[in-house]
Amino acid sequence: MTSNVKTSGEAAAGEAGRDFIRDIVKADLDAGRVKEVVTRFPPEPNGYLHIGHAKSICLNFGIAQEFGGRCHLRFDDTNPTKEEQEYIDAIERDVRWLGFDWGRHLYHASDYFGRLYNWAEDLIRTGKAYVDDQSQDEIRQNRGTLTEPGKNSPFRNRSVEENLDLFRRMRAGEFPNGARVLRAKIDMASGNINMRDPVLYRILHVSHPRTGTAWKIYPSYDFAHGQCDAIEGITHSICTLEFEDHRPLYDWCIENLDVPSRPHQYEFARLNLTYTVLSKRVLTLLVRNGHVSGWDDPRMPTIAGLRRRGVPPAAIRDFIKRIGVAKANSLVDVSMLEFSLREELNNTALRRMAVLRPIKAVIENYPEGQVEELDAVNHPDDPAAGSRKIKFGRELYIEQEDFMESPPKKFFRLSPGAEVRLRYAYFITCKEAVKNAKGEITELRCTYDPATKGGNAPDGRKVKATIHWVSAMHSMPAEVRIYDPLFLKPVPDVANFANELNPNSLELLNGARIEPALADAKLEVPVQFERNGYFCLDPDSKPGKPVFNRTIGLRDTWAKEKVAG
Ligand code: ATP
Ligand code: MG
Repeated sequence: MTSNVKTSGEAAAGEAGRDFIRDIVKADLDAGRVKEVVTRFPPEPNGYLHIGHAKSICLNFGIAQEFGGRCHLRFDDTNPTKEEQEYIDAIERDVRWLGFDWGRHLYHASDYFGRLYNWAEDLIRTGKAYVDDQSQDEIRQNRGTLTEPGKNSPFRNRSVEENLDLFRRMRAGEFPNGARVLRAKIDMASGNINMRDPVLYRILHVSHPRTGTAWKIYPSYDFAHGQCDAIEGITHSICTLEFEDHRPLYDWCIENLDVPSRPHQYEFARLNLTYTVLSKRVLTLLVRNGHVSGWDDPRMPTIAGLRRRGVPPAAIRDFIKRIGVAKANSLVDVSMLEFSLREELNNTALRRMAVLRPIKAVIENYPEGQVEELDAVNHPDDPAAGSRKIKFGRELYIEQEDFMESPPKKFFRLSPGAEVRLRYAYFITCKEAVKNAKGEITELRCTYDPATKGGNAPDGRKVKATIHWVSAMHSMPAEVRIYDPLFLKPVPDVANFANELNPNSLELLNGARIEPALADAKLEVPVQFERNGYFCLDPDSKPGKPVFNRTIGLRDTWAKEKVAG
């Protein structure tokens, strides 16, 4: 089925100069300080990307798009103990899915291991780096504190020759892990702890996904990052605020090395979102300890989880655009993301009928064996989305919660003696609720008014409620998975996260009934189940046993429960 429903938030690009980073880029271009803006997104392949990374992706790729430059995808693969090919593949897939393209500009910090090594030797030769034999603990103890200066290492004044010899032997694999490190020789009394002779290289006898066993030493993030930027001609190296204190070191490396360009680092506030955590470490533990089914569990704030749940990339881009880019850390309410999501899905999702918790309704005055086809529109605001035929018969399913035997005053749906409209069909009146021996309602006996076909009464009488339904004979069974936030508190305690998980974040409904048109449902393409919310097919589906994820409800009921609870 084709539809020309327009999508909101379609373009990832926006007007230039609408945040402080774009202002800087624009000023640099206007003043001719840079000719072409070059940015990069530098994930470490030690986990899947999450919605926080999406902010960085939209910013880096967005700026390149808006100002006619380019954005590189660079894997910051300097720590082979935690990095895996699975993560590399997932990251590429997720960035593409978000709508961004690095073209031929795919790089890896490991592509530059040789050049980084040579630069480290240069620092040794100019007396700006030394091999330190202190243990990790000693280095930590001698680093000092915020109020006290650090202590110089007893190995700080080794000769250039000795340093070169030891560093080459570190590289050759002569020493075990942790035996020695290469440190920059800057200032152990610096007010900035990052400048107190930071570690540039450490020994790690670990095979690397790309370089195999070629290297026994690996550069630190601080030594690798700026030099990689310089090699690639990055003009604006945009990162999150926790790197602000690392900037002097970034600049120190660039100033003290013969690098091919002079990149600058700019910091912005990371995204924090309520009712979830955006820490790769915690997300990794959620997966490893089985709190979720995997990185793409639809409750996860990962791009893969959001995709599986049915969140379209346009909704994520729209959300990122709305929250903007600032210099001070803040917390964004998850309802902002849900707002963007509902806007997008309201425009794009086709309408279908599904009954999540069915109860049978028998239309006593409808002839046995008769079936008729009724027209149902696919999208109320988009005639081009067309309509479909839905089958109506004597036995239907309706939602259990649309019936009450003894309803309170304001309940206008079905109850004994009450009349309601069945969407796209007829008015029906409930005559009786049939019960089993235990007193549970097993079926509703109803009558319909043939004159109300299409949903209006010729005599002009009104009904206060319209409910959805499916034909008992023609509908298909389905499993439906309803999600609520993974965490109970708006700001989960990360140190204690396992105790703060929402025990009811997943509700399984095994007996849902869906209309036949949903046999064509596609992965990652949500449809609206009328009155129930937006849902999309899950990859766990099997032929004849579809599984649907609730992407999101029609309204923010969670917010109401929170207030009520
Ligand atoms: P790690 O602790 O493993 O470094 P990380 O989330 O920083 O975790 P990276 O792979 O280093 O992971 O992140 C890639 C880029 O995404 C970095 O530039 C980082 O600043 C940015 N980023 C990470 N988390 C967020 C966030 N919550 N909001 C915005 N940007 C983020
Ligand atoms: Mg990081």
